Amino acid sequence: MEGEADTVQDLVVVGAGPHALTFLCFLLEQEPMGAALVDAHRAVIRSRLSDRELRAIIDRRRRAGASTRGSARPKLKVVDRHGGEGWMRNWRRQFDVLRIENLRSNAGLHPDPVDPEMLFEYARALGLSMEEGFAPITGVPRSREFHGPFQVPTAALFARFCDFLVQAYRLGGALVEGEVVAIEQVELREGGGEDGGDGVCNGFCVTLANGTILKSRIVVASVGHANLRNFPDWIDPDSAPAGRISHAWDFVHIERVEKQRYGGEVILIIGGGQTSVQLAALAVDLGAKMVVLLVRSELKVRQFDSDLLWTGRLRSERLRAFFKEAHMDARLGMIEEARQGGTITPEGKATLECLEAQGRCRVMEGVEGWDAQWVPEKGSFDVLLSDDTEMVADRIWAATGSRMDVVEEGIFDPMMTSSPISTVGGYPVLQPDLRWNPGVNMYVIGAYSALAVGPDAVNLSGARRAGFKVAKSIKECWSRTPQQHELCT
Ligand SMILES: Cc1cc2nc3c(=O)[nH]c(=O)nc-3n(C[C@H](O)[C@H](O)[C@H](O)COP(=O)(O)OP(=O)(O)OC[C@H]3O[C@@H](n4cnc5c(N)ncnc54)[C@H](O)[C@@H]3O)c2cc1C
Repeated sequence: MEGEADTVQDLVVVGAGPHALTFLCFLLEQEPMGAALVDAHRAVIRSRLSDRELRAIIDRRRRAGASTRGSARPKLKVVDRHGGEGWMRNWRRQFDVLRIENLRSNAGLHPDPVDPEMLFEYARALGLSMEEGFAPITGVPRSREFHGPFQVPTAALFARFCDFLVQAYRLGGALVEGEVVAIEQVELREGGGEDGGDGVCNGFCVTLANGTILKSRIVVASVGHANLRNFPDWIDPDSAPAGRISHAWDFVHIERVEKQRYGGEVILIIGGGQTSVQLAALAVDLGAKMVVLLVRSELKVRQFDSDLLWTGRLRSERLRAFFKEAHMDARLGMIEEARQGGTITPEGKATLECLEAQGRCRVMEGVEGWDAQWVPEKGSFDVLLSDDTEMVADRIWAATGSRMDVVEEGIFDPMMTSSPISTVGGYPVLQPDLRWNPGVNMYVIGAYSALAVGPDAVNLSGARRAGFKVAKSIKECWSRTPQQHELCT
């Protein structure tokens, strides 16, 4: 970034996950799909395109990035603490490390801004058969609520498709490695900038941990939901030697997880969601003698993360009711009700049953932990459970999700002072277009936008809705400013 200290960017995005990618594709695409289609799931896979039509679609996407090249293309940086490893590093690592073969969401949900069926078309262009690119959804019958698609993409196809979009929209060069520590509202002086202007405008300084400051007119924060790990209150992660108490998100950072060996160990896994199942399978694969899965309530089996009413055809109706609700506490209640804590897929349930049949896993439903003490002499934990039994565990793994607290994230501290925002349940109360506050050109997408996007804000479906909203708002803003981009003319 040498020599760029005085350059004012048009846009800085914090975070290079799938949500940021989706938003940027919507922003850079000249003709993104309309609001109604963003939510649509078409029932039938359109495999009737001729090869010529298919090639034309793929070529068009390839040209999309090129058409916004040069002076018309916004000056753009995307900062990610793992930016040196390319786009979507967290996403890729979580699928690799946890050995997840297929996505949980259906094949119509991906970052392409034009066509929900593009992933099918792309697989076809690669010469993949349906069986090679997708797995069937088995747990959801065709019904009024859900008409399909009845396929989930493989993680490999999805990652390759995202690479294709990064290339098509020329987003590789925008990526900067760095830990953002603060986003601050400032007045920007543009004298000496590339566009030769010497005016003053409102904007932001985005400060990185290494002291670099990026100046930008607009900021989009897309920091995901994995910054603040959630542990049950009976576990103190600092009370045992390193590696004995872990959180599911920690595994993403283990370089070669296959080198870890848990031979003969008993591993206590806490949580009733899909991640706990994936951790159980991983532990057994890496040699654990026994995995005990502690599920506070009961295991809930569901194909999708959110209730089907929020996932299928009736979603638009639900969303209308959600957006009509003016009280944010009530919206929070709707979010919690839709997500129902952790759920597992039918395949996840089958995995657990298989591990149980092998005598390598015990699922304890309706049981909580009460206390866990590390006993150095024994090199293990004594754990007291709510059913009044005790157990000994060599390791404890928490698959208990994240804490959502926009205040605790830290990078928003200066914004909290210059432009205070109210929060409900740790989520900021954003504007309908996902701005921080009226007239403030900072937007928030991803899990933190749930009160303005809906219960699926964390998922790819929410990413499409947020990407559409924010891209539309920024294009409108650019169309009103003197330095118009061709993008919004
Ligand atoms: C195992 C797993 C499987 C999932 N599968 C699906 C699925 O199939 N379908 C679906 O719809 N959803 C799925 N989800 C949910 C969700 O889509 C993913 O969690 C997704 O990664 C969220 O994307 P994101 O871009 O919001 O966040 P992330 O992918 O976490 O990206 C955020 C990025 O921001 C960066 N960052 C954060 N803070 C800073 C900072 N201060 N400075 C610099 N960089 C920062 C991080 O390094 C990260 O790269 C899954 C989640 C998990 C955990």
